[in-house]
Amino acid sequence: MSQLGTLDAGSRHDLRVGISPDAPDESQAPDDGEGLFGYAHSYETASRYDGPGLRVVLFVSGCLLRCSYCHNPDTWHLKDGTYISARQAIDRLKGFASALRALDGGLTISGGEPMVQLAFTRRILAGAKQLGLHTAIETSGFLGDRADERYLSALDLVLLDIKSSNPETYRRVTGRDLAPTLRFAERLATIGKPVWVRFTLVPGFTDDPANVEGIARFVAPMKNVEWVEVQPFHQLGAFKWKAMGLEYKHLDTQSPTPDLINRVLEQFRSAGCRAR
Ligand code: SF4
Repeated sequence: MSQLGTLDAGSRHDLRVGISPDAPDESQAPDDGEGLFGYAHSYETASRYDGPGLRVVLFVSGCLLRCSYCHNPDTWHLKDGTYISARQAIDRLKGFASALRALDGGLTISGGEPMVQLAFTRRILAGAKQLGLHTAIETSGFLGDRADERYLSALDLVLLDIKSSNPETYRRVTGRDLAPTLRFAERLATIGKPVWVRFTLVPGFTDDPANVEGIARFVAPMKNVEWVEVQPFHQLGAFKWKAMGLEYKHLDTQSPTPDLINRVLEQFRSAGCRAR
């Protein structure tokens, strides 16, 4: 059993590893319990980037994907996170609630993958709703089948990362199947849940025009998709791969040029998406 730790403010760019060595493997995280306790990396208090308004962003631990360009490999394993109670997270959120409400913001749970610890993140989202806050998760959608109605009803917005429209590219980049993500996107469209699609533009990996076109054509008819956000690849996470002794394929990958970003934005806009 892991020792209860302190939920420290920090940044997604902090390297945190080996904090809870007794944690279960992320593939076996309890996802159907009470969700009283779970593992978290850190939280940020003033994001204007991860959903509308001013956000508190809680980065939880555990992810089943292994994206080759992941900026936060120290969120992959529960054992690298701090063991905290959902109550600690909600109490901390309480201190910011009036400012978040005043600035039309709320809570975003990112990671890692929030649905690895489904009951834990559901409990925190429900706590945020009780504080009158707007709620969001950032997810790859790979575990979307786990999200029951109770989970979705605690969510005002889903930031859905669609990393590729091509199953082979998706597998090459993430190590997993694309189908669950598309299935989750279609389900969110069916129930009209607001979604911002996020696409990480990695030159030489995801920038193929046909790949972008495939996502654009898939997303364009979905009336619930409010934005497509193109996120340029950067090297800010490279130091974590090195520190963790992981093989990093992107040492020589450049950030996309403004021309490439514009080409991709134009592809989404031409297909009928609101893109930025
Ligand atoms: S889904 Fe996100 S956290 Fe998981 S490996 Fe990919 S980029 Fe990293």
